[in-house]
Amino acid sequence: MARPFAKMDFMNTQTLPYNVQAVRADFPILGQEHHPGVPLVYLDNAASSQKPLKVINALDDYYRRYNANVHRGIHKLSEQATAAYEEARIKIKRFINAASKREIIFTRGTTESINLVAQTWGRANLKVGDVVVSTVMEHHSNIVPWQIRAAEKGFTIRYIPVLPDGTLDLNAYAALLRDENVKLVTVMHVSNMLGTVNPVVEMAQQAHAAGALILVDGAQSTPHMSVDVQALDVDFFAFSGHKMCGPTGIGILYGKRDLLEAMPPWMGGGDMISRVTLDGSTWNDLPYKFEAGTPIIAGAIGLGYAVDYLSELGMDKIHAYEQAIAAYALERLAEVPGITVYGPDADKKGAVAAFTLDSVHAHDVAQILDAEGVAVRAGHHCAMPLHEHFGVPATARASFYLYNTFAEVDALIEGLYKAKKAFA
Ligand code: PLP
Repeated sequence: MARPFAKMDFMNTQTLPYNVQAVRADFPILGQEHHPGVPLVYLDNAASSQKPLKVINALDDYYRRYNANVHRGIHKLSEQATAAYEEARIKIKRFINAASKREIIFTRGTTESINLVAQTWGRANLKVGDVVVSTVMEHHSNIVPWQIRAAEKGFTIRYIPVLPDGTLDLNAYAALLRDENVKLVTVMHVSNMLGTVNPVVEMAQQAHAAGALILVDGAQSTPHMSVDVQALDVDFFAFSGHKMCGPTGIGILYGKRDLLEAMPPWMGGGDMISRVTLDGSTWNDLPYKFEAGTPIIAGAIGLGYAVDYLSELGMDKIHAYEQAIAAYALERLAEVPGITVYGPDADKKGAVAAFTLDSVHAHDVAQILDAEGVAVRAGHHCAMPLHEHFGVPATARASFYLYNTFAEVDALIEGLYKAKKAFA
């Protein structure tokens, strides 16, 4: 049996930065039953977060009151839509402290942002003999775009190994950077499986000292901690709206202005041009050069409101709250006999716990938890090389967000005991 007083023991030592019940009231989905009589415990936040009323209402308001295409119309609705779309860009610029709104490109998400860089900067700058340095812990979206480009351009990809504690081998990184052919380092900020927070400030300094650029996949950091792209001094930074209270289908590529200016466009069409003749075309200014066609207007506006929501709550408070939940979750998970939790200790990781349980397959764990109302993810989490590194085909993953409670951690633990019993 799980220890009945664990939550009280833990909470006596913690001061929580906000009232989570008040926060939960902002998310209508969290109040519903997962099955009749069984409340929803949503612990699949690394895959996608839930949405607060502020965002849901903003989408509703756009479609009800001022739905129109942007940048093209002279009429009032189009002007309103354009103003809201561009206001969202400014909100996001402030949120990540970019130097200019021209450095904020709307994309469909992290995947598209990384592909954009691989397709345009990669095509223009990488050639046979060059090296791109990535890591074994990357999400497929930061491996495959480079493999596709490497197959065409003939450069080499080298991977920083992962140590047994789930952190990067930084000595190996330093050694890789001794090769003067390294042109780009592309690394995740926070691992979606291990939760490892990579030291991107130091990694950026080292990359730059070696004459390379650095791209950071911020899909799992931007929703959970304060991000300042100028302080990080990264060249490109990618993230997704749907993991940070925003809608699906919208994401951001941040790039330093001089780099973006020099990059060729990738998709051609409306809005990204300055002039088109039958003999050729010239390109629009940043950021529009990379935003061909009708953009994801509602998504961008919704993301702007998500950023408002997160900023009002406070990214530092969110981070502190999640650290407390994650520490409690790791403490409780460690009590479960036969469990292996992957990744570093609580103080070095985000609010993610991927684990295996004895001989119970991760999918069976997830299915039994689902019957208990607890939604977790099972599989390779788009990190097959990392799972291979740890010698497991799949893990179950509980990932937490600003609205999860200590009681929900207890529900997870109780569900795991049920899974063990069912497969004993
Ligand atoms: N990178 C990381 C670390 C992720 O966790 C994810 C999504 O799970 C992605 C990239 C891809 O994000 P998206 O599917 O929103 O493009």
